[in-house]
Amino acid sequence: MDCVFCNIIKDNKVIIAENELAVAFYDNFPVSKGHTLIIPRRHVETYFDLNEEEMKAIFNLSQEVKKILAKLYKPDGYNVGFNVGVDGGQTVMHCHMHVIPRYHGDALNPRGGIRKVVKNEKKY
Ligand code: 5GP
Ligand code: ZN
Repeated sequence: MDCVFCNIIKDNKVIIAENELAVAFYDNFPVSKGHTLIIPRRHVETYFDLNEEEMKAIFNLSQEVKKILAKLYKPDGYNVGFNVGVDGGQTVMHCHMHVIPRYHGDALNPRGGIRKVVKNEKKY
């Protein structure tokens, strides 16, 4: 099986932080400065396929990644999350957490954040 993210783990060149069960690296097509992905070392398709240890490893690593991004880029906010399934927007079928730094003024109206991934979201 050829998986781009498994290959990143094998290559080991672009990893910015890691622990026993998870690794972090910058997104190739960042939606903002510092956009980072965190993946389990084990190939599983989605967030819901992770075991408890892997969940812990990924969430612990996200705290480390946040410190790195805060120091390097000083973002004003973050969006953190997983796309699950093609209809949930997932394109790479190796589970990954997005850590997306947000910057004051990068969206006209940031209110709602990830709620806006579905079009026609009503004002709330
Ligand atoms: P998804 O849409 O599956 O939630 O996110 C996949 C992410 O992986 C996208 O943000 C995309 O830019 C990123 N990506 C796709 N291929 C590569 C790659 O080969 N290297 C890296 N670093 N990121 C990738
Ligand atoms: Zn994989």
